[in-house]
Amino acid sequence: MKPLVSKLPTAGTTIFTVMTKLAEEHRAINLGQGFPEFQPPARLQELVEHYMRMGRNQYAPMIGARSLREAISAKTKTVYGARIEPESEITVTSGATEAIFCAIQAVVHRGDEVIVLDPCYDSYEPSITLAGGRTVHVPLRAPDFAIDWQRLADSLTARTRLIITNSPHNPTGALLSSADLARLAELVRSTECLVLSDEVYEHIVFDGKHVSLLTNVELAARSFVISSFGKTYHATGWKVGYCIAPQALTDEFRRVHQYVMFATTTPMQLAFADYLVEAPEHYLELPEFYREKRDYFASLLRESRFELLPVRGTYFQLAAYDAISDKSDVEFARWLTVEHGVASIPVSVFCARAPRARLIRFCFARERTTLAAAAAKLRVL
Ligand code: PMP
Ligand code: GLN
Repeated sequence: MKPLVSKLPTAGTTIFTVMTKLAEEHRAINLGQGFPEFQPPARLQELVEHYMRMGRNQYAPMIGARSLREAISAKTKTVYGARIEPESEITVTSGATEAIFCAIQAVVHRGDEVIVLDPCYDSYEPSITLAGGRTVHVPLRAPDFAIDWQRLADSLTARTRLIITNSPHNPTGALLSSADLARLAELVRSTECLVLSDEVYEHIVFDGKHVSLLTNVELAARSFVISSFGKTYHATGWKVGYCIAPQALTDEFRRVHQYVMFATTTPMQLAFADYLVEAPEHYLELPEFYREKRDYFASLLRESRFELLPVRGTYFQLAAYDAISDKSDVEFARWLTVEHGVASIPVSVFCARAPRARLIRFCFARERTTLAAAAAKLRVL
């Protein structure tokens, strides 16, 4: 047999899987992988059960259940003031991961360049590589992880097909402002470059409010805007997300989506459709729910030797540990798990080149008791 030639030769197992496994092996408290320790709302679970019992267990429409696309369109109008056509501009996907993959496959051709802003989410580059594209890494500017506009402008070439943005930003908690979007619009105005905006933490914002790319009409006309119900409804294991894009982009997106997933789980889609309409208070109250957790975790670590960076959104807290160790972040995260029983995520794995500041990421989407137990271990270091 001909030896296998990997299409992703540099990809190992994702850091989330690695750290969760390590945490399990060493019975460490897992503040690594980003998932909520809480259950989805009881009413939402009831709705899933209801639709299963009603026999809604076969394929959903390829583009997503109509009721869900309509509910997403109505919500997007209320929250962002954007009018999105449910039939031609919204596609329901199996989580944001699938949406990101399909959007990239839909528009990136062999030899195209795609700009990502480091640190960036780990699924972007492999998706670009599989499309035959080349990933161009542009670092965000420390300490506030703002876009370095000059570097971004310098990285744009005639081959740049896509820029990927993520706000609220994993892992730094930084937010893009409407001025940032205006600047991005200006930058791409005279180019063929499209934008993919990853907004999966849209409802977890503490400092000001989330500015969706959909609020910038000029950018929205050339963008895929991707979100997920996983973070908002404490249901990351259900894998339901969606992609909003103008019709021409959506048509190409669906050509790929139909052969990647065909459709997403039916009872979950129908349940989300009802719940979105029934309980907008869920996402309206989410910032407060997580603000309390962020502040609680920070208060527990105030007396520690970790230096916590400001968090404006998401459920992640970055921490510098210079006062504790001079290990690399990967070694430090491993040591912290194995020797001290707390798992985290090293930030350099989200970067092409390790940043000067050595940082680890804690996920605070956990019960108070879990955060308190972890902090007790972290405070003694
Ligand atoms: N983008 C970012 C920035 C994320 O943090 C995540 C998952 N945590 C995803 C995309 C993937 O979302 P999903 O679980 O809906 O596939
Ligand atoms: N996005 C989550 C995080 O950043 C994890 C998702 C995953 O495990 N693939 O931790």
